[in-house]
Amino acid sequence: MQMSPAELENLPALFEASEQLVAMFDERDQMRFANSAFRRALGLSTEELPSWAELMRQGYHSERGTQVSAADFEAWLAAAQSRRGKLPFRSFETSLADGRWMLMCETTVTNGWMLCIASDVSGLHTEGRDLRQERDLAQRAAWTDELTQLSNRRYCLERLDALLAREQAAPLSLAVLDLDHFKRVNDSLGHDAGDLVLQDFAQLMRQCVRRADIAARLGGEEFVLVLPDTPLPEAERVLLRLLAAVRASQPLAAQPAFRYSCSAGLVAADVRGGEGRNAVLSRADQALYRAKREGRDRLVVG
Ligand code: GH3
Ligand code: MG
Ligand code: MG
Repeated sequence: MQMSPAELENLPALFEASEQLVAMFDERDQMRFANSAFRRALGLSTEELPSWAELMRQGYHSERGTQVSAADFEAWLAAAQSRRGKLPFRSFETSLADGRWMLMCETTVTNGWMLCIASDVSGLHTEGRDLRQERDLAQRAAWTDELTQLSNRRYCLERLDALLAREQAAPLSLAVLDLDHFKRVNDSLGHDAGDLVLQDFAQLMRQCVRRADIAARLGGEEFVLVLPDTPLPEAERVLLRLLAAVRASQPLAAQPAFRYSCSAGLVAADVRGGEGRNAVLSRADQALYRAKREGRDRLVVG
């Protein structure tokens, strides 16, 4: 339903007057709008339009705004970003530095824009709150790969199933990636260096993808990238960018000359044909296997 000019005209004033916290973020998670209630609660001036990451970072370091209780803020942020905006809708309880509890509702549309609306629920259902927070933390741990803070296999496969079962048959691309000669990295430089390389790779994956994409560690040195609403040629560009970033990366400060690479197999899911998760993954694996056979450090589109 389209809004009439009168409705459109009144919307900003209604948002502004609302006691609910209202904010809008674009596909790069840059804040584009926040009403007065949101600005007051998060300690923002009328002019500030930070990215969501900056907003969380400011809050963490200045103890205003949203409360993040994590020993390692950057690890918390990476894990939070790996799930933020991946679902059309989600809601959760979060506490503010001023002691209020908010129910945060996030709505994301396919172009990646997000509407956040939070309501003060401090006085509601207080008795179960500790339990609900514990449940949310456990859920988060069950979905996160500890070493890289990417989503793990379980989360990725759950989301992939949901995307393949969508009613509208939108294009979906999927890539399986595997680091090249990774055993040698461990053998020659040690397991800790290997872990740093895996973390570097995860960071590059996060930087290369858009909000709706799901980057996950399947296990070991194998990763998967799910690109919803993305036709193959566009997915190919994303993957080539990632492979180039990996080639250029210097993940080990103690060994600046060290470089690494990865191979990738990319396929388009047959969404109209109702192709299942295992079939898509297996085709991507075959493409990956070809990339290995043909000399590694390359992308094969299957
Ligand atoms: P290829 O180019 O054919 O993929 O060769 P590769 O050596 O990467 O493949 P292979 O599967 O033989 O070796 C994978 C290695 O990854 C073996 C294992 O020691 C290492 N590995 C798996 N998980 C981890 C981890 O969490 N940390 C570290 N440091 N190494 C890991
Ligand atoms: Mg492997
Ligand atoms: Mg490997």
